[in-house]
Amino acid sequence: MGYLPILENANKNLVREIFHKCLRYLLELIILLENGVNLFINNKKIWFYPRVPTILADWPEATSYCLVYKSTNSNISCHFCLVKKNDLANINLSSSDMRLRSHNEMRNYFENKTQNSVCIESVPNFFWNFP
Ligand SMILES: [Zn+2]
Repeated sequence: MGYLPILENANKNLVREIFHKCLRYLLELIILLENGVNLFINNKKIWFYPRVPTILADWPEATSYCLVYKSTNSNISCHFCLVKKNDLANINLSSSDMRLRSHNEMRNYFENKTQNSVCIESVPNFFWNFP
């Protein structure tokens, strides 16, 4: 358990970078313990491996974790998928029109400097390296 800083009056990209660096600091042990760890509890050795099963967040917090543009005016504002703003209420979309955001795909947009086309910030996302 840890606290995440909320910086005020700072450059927004700096705020995002620090947020994701703090996440890395808090969670990198999970990556390092990829093969698990043995714990001795009541003189019994128990093997386990730590994971983050879910993160509860409201929409603004989810945009911080996913580094999706925070504006509701953004053309692709959903942190789950790449459905355009004008199609979010379209019930006639086919499943092929509803592409999900994946770590690899978002990382590719970032590395190819085309992150603007999928409305993500120009900051590397810690979760792209998460198992
Ligand atoms: Zn969506």
